[in-house]
Amino acid sequence: MNRLNLRDIASLDSLIAGAARITVIGHMKPDGDAVGSGVAMLSFLESLGKDAAVVLPDTYPATLSFLIPPHVQGKVIVYEDFPDKASERLLSSDLILCQDFNSFSRTGDACTVLSASSAEKILIDHHPDPDRECFNLCFSDTEVSSTAELLYHILMEMPQTGHDAHNLPSLTATALMTGMTTDTNNFANSVFPTTLVMASELLEAGVDRERIIGNVFNSYGESRIRLMGYLLDKCLKITGDGVAYMILDRKTAMKFGIREGDTEGFVNIPLAIRDVRMSIFLKEDTDRFRVSIRSKKGISANLCARKYFNGGGHELASGGRLMIPGDVRNSRQASSYIKKVTHTFMTGQ
Ligand code: 5GP
Ligand code: MN
Repeated sequence: MNRLNLRDIASLDSLIAGAARITVIGHMKPDGDAVGSGVAMLSFLESLGKDAAVVLPDTYPATLSFLIPPHVQGKVIVYEDFPDKASERLLSSDLILCQDFNSFSRTGDACTVLSASSAEKILIDHHPDPDRECFNLCFSDTEVSSTAELLYHILMEMPQTGHDAHNLPSLTATALMTGMTTDTNNFANSVFPTTLVMASELLEAGVDRERIIGNVFNSYGESRIRLMGYLLDKCLKITGDGVAYMILDRKTAMKFGIREGDTEGFVNIPLAIRDVRMSIFLKEDTDRFRVSIRSKKGISANLCARKYFNGGGHELASGGRLMIPGDVRNSRQASSYIKKVTHTFMTGQ
């Protein structure tokens, strides 16, 4: 990719060469891009003979477990489950690659240890406004589909691959294709010319796209589809300002037997309605509602998330949280809050 600075690639190469113990860290509630780009880098680093690992702040959706085959399992450490092991790993690393997030705070409880680690830190990310001062080297580009895509173009520039995707370890290639496929919602959003170049080269190199699609889009339990029907029928609200929202409370999630990742993509569905310009999905957690926001061109999901939902993200795809009881006490209050703030937001008052 032309935009990559070759001096940065040389710095990355020499930082990797000079480090024995290297750790990749992703963001809270890791998605296909965080897990995909993490495992891709892990597998690439192992092919160079490095002691590599991935730390994820909390658990990943079951649909992504195909990216973590038995030989990788001990090297993907979930901080929430093994805080001591994850902390020791971060503190004893020579180099930490921060992937798919723009600020340490996105690593949740792992943030303190990440900040305390004396390792050199490199950012590889596609979110706007990164905290550049926290990193020794930054690869930050918002004009790519995903962190996986950015990492693909970086790896193609590395001397070990020599611009040929055939030279990537097979797990790296699969994980990169997965991260890009989930972040673009299977080529529906944020597809750039470079995204198709990457997809084409990875297919050419033998990546099995059907296997990826089968795992990430077609391997959910029945409960997801039953819940989707219920939410769309009973819970979807559309305001006069063109904002659609759904709130999933804990009781309903328990009733349907919902697991982590089962509600992935629900927020996109109401955007199919002509008059809907922004869609918001809330999922109740122990002490908060997790918020997902998607918007159509001309409406900034990012601004809405930053202003009203303690979050941020991309222009058209963002997230955040409403704390219970700090921001709202229950779903009813959350509903009134959404109506009120989105009216202000959409009418520019
Ligand atoms: P999702 O709705 O899929 O959870 O998140 C959509 C996008 O918003 C992702 O790019 C994610 O990184 C970003 N995002 C989600 N939650 C937060 C948050 O709390 N803070 C910030 N800054 N970004 C978030
Ligand atoms: Mn991403």
